[in-house]
Amino acid sequence: MTQSAAPAARGAPVPDTQLAVLRGMLEQQRRFRLDQLEQLQRSDQLGLLSGSDREISDSLIRGARAALRDVVDALQRMADGRYGRCRRCGTALAPERLEVLPQVSLCMPCQREEQADD
Ligand SMILES: [Zn+2]
Repeated sequence: MTQSAAPAARGAPVPDTQLAVLRGMLEQQRRFRLDQLEQLQRSDQLGLLSGSDREISDSLIRGARAALRDVVDALQRMADGRYGRCRRCGTALAPERLEVLPQVSLCMPCQREEQADD
């Protein structure tokens, strides 16, 4: 194994410098989602919500949980050295895409397939 700055065919496709930035973004998002969930669940537990507010709150909680799970998964992939590759086919993900959505775990074709499966 030789150390190279260029993306290799195997190993992490994301350079360490970019990885550090993306990890910071993910950790920020994780804190944001945890705060959001705490607030939503608090209003829920206090019984402040009724009817349609309750439904909106429930869907926000589901959305926040799903988003949090994606973020935590991405941080786990970073820890495992699997970050930056499609979890289905192993293709290196586009750096521009990771910068916008650091939690993304599928390449575009696989994402389309997964959405079609749902
Ligand atoms: Zn893929």
